[in-house]
Amino acid sequence: MRTRFFVFILSISLLLPSLALGQTVSISTAERKMAEEITADQLSNYLHFVASDAMGGRDTPSAGLDVTAEFLKMNLKRWGFKPAGDDGTFFQKITLRRDAIDPAATSVKVGSQTFAYGEDLARGAGNGSISAPIVYVGNGWMIKSKNLNPYQNIDVKGKIVAVYGEGPLGSRTLVPLPAGISQSDLTGERGKDWADVTSYARANGAAGVLVLPSKFLTENWSAITQSFGRSRLVVDKLAPPAGNVQGAAAMNILFASTKLANAIFNGEAGNPLTGAANSFELGTGKLLDFTIASKPEWQSTQNVVAVWEGSDPTLKSEMVAIGAHYDHDGTNPNAPGEDKIWNGADDDGSGTVAVLAIAEALGKAKTRPKRSILFVWHAGEEKGLWGSEYFNKFPTVDIKNVIAQLNIDMIGRSKKPGDTNPLNKDLTGENAIYVIGSEMMSTTLGAITKGTNDAFLKLTYDYKYDDPKDTNRFFFRSDHYHYAVNGIPISFWFDGVHEDYHKPSDTPDKIDYQKMEKVTRTIFLTLWELTDLKERPKIDKQLPPELTQR
Ligand SMILES: [Zn+2]
Repeated sequence: MRTRFFVFILSISLLLPSLALGQTVSISTAERKMAEEITADQLSNYLHFVASDAMGGRDTPSAGLDVTAEFLKMNLKRWGFKPAGDDGTFFQKITLRRDAIDPAATSVKVGSQTFAYGEDLARGAGNGSISAPIVYVGNGWMIKSKNLNPYQNIDVKGKIVAVYGEGPLGSRTLVPLPAGISQSDLTGERGKDWADVTSYARANGAAGVLVLPSKFLTENWSAITQSFGRSRLVVDKLAPPAGNVQGAAAMNILFASTKLANAIFNGEAGNPLTGAANSFELGTGKLLDFTIASKPEWQSTQNVVAVWEGSDPTLKSEMVAIGAHYDHDGTNPNAPGEDKIWNGADDDGSGTVAVLAIAEALGKAKTRPKRSILFVWHAGEEKGLWGSEYFNKFPTVDIKNVIAQLNIDMIGRSKKPGDTNPLNKDLTGENAIYVIGSEMMSTTLGAITKGTNDAFLKLTYDYKYDDPKDTNRFFFRSDHYHYAVNGIPISFWFDGVHEDYHKPSDTPDKIDYQKMEKVTRTIFLTLWELTDLKERPKIDKQLPPELTQR
């Protein structure tokens, strides 16, 4: 509800378009009262539950995340919210999949000898059946500037490239760099001026790569079979088809035991395990026959989705969306130190319970907003914005009717006066918060976001990261991103990174609940102002091109 004074200003600004830029917001006593239902105490109570050790860090998927979802649902139901997930429920189910090796259907043959998966063979990547000749290429490193080329006079096309090198598997290469060579020697274009075995094999049409057993591989055999035996978890509907998680380009990569390697090199010109250094093609007619079979393993998680219906017969079909992510990083039993649980109190327990408190304030309010309000608590944000991508690609509501999205991700921490910890250098103070994205697509959304704060608590809104060229790329790092690229203008509130960011020490006792109260009340009123607008905020600016791709 606006005051008369505001109506007066608005009518003048309609006459004088130049004034429209200075859109003013005024907050009525009734609106202020609704916002004041949100209290530090309430936020603290909810957050001590959601970020408790009992939730185990709310990994996606996990029992702790499911319990948090049930907690949100139970409250929404109590306060009279309409379920807006799948089939009249509060949940939008997200099916997750990983491909796991099917050991019984996976094997390798050399001549008439068969070797079993796990024992003598491990899969690095790929699937399917192949029968191909073998070439040995030493450590597989081609580095033109150092005159290294193990592929001279060797054609790898359609063949399996066997490679051997001592040292640990790198994060990006199967075989460590040769002695005396460093990363800085890898100049020019990968695949042309230099290549490791995988990039060379891929660029030249090899059938696969066989990694021969180094000391490292032998010592870590069981860990390697286990970690490569299962692909990472993916959202089924957002990933390539089952059996091909790494994508169409996935080339077969196999690890061989000493027994398998000796069988392959038996009767050959040399055996790299006993000292052959140069490349050579293995005897004609000798084929490596293998079948890598995998089967999908299924899990599931969910977004929590609800609607608070508006009161205006026409406008109620439109919605203002508000959201947060209710997942975090889970538990790591191998973490150093005592604390193994990533509680995620600020990230994003704070947003989760702020959105819940906003829902409760609406539930208690005497009046309904004109437009409806869409609440989405997203899962899997920490895994790569899963929940928000899923919701935007498979919405459970008519997404065209969403006029704006407000995202809350980390609003609970504040930098105390005198804090000189460099890790807290960019943390906002007790009365400040970063606002990102509000002015990137819609002048009106920007004006309402800023105007609500100016008319209410006058927090310091820091727009430092509201810049397409922000090197932290915060715009890409939370759920609003998928709404923005879907054409929905967004505003994002964020307190800044700090000493406990993504650490087990992000716990509820460290939250500044007074600050959280102020920020949450302000966002509540921003939401209310948007539901009340005569016309939906126009998109009058293109999202900068550098923001449309993650
Ligand atoms: Zn996070």
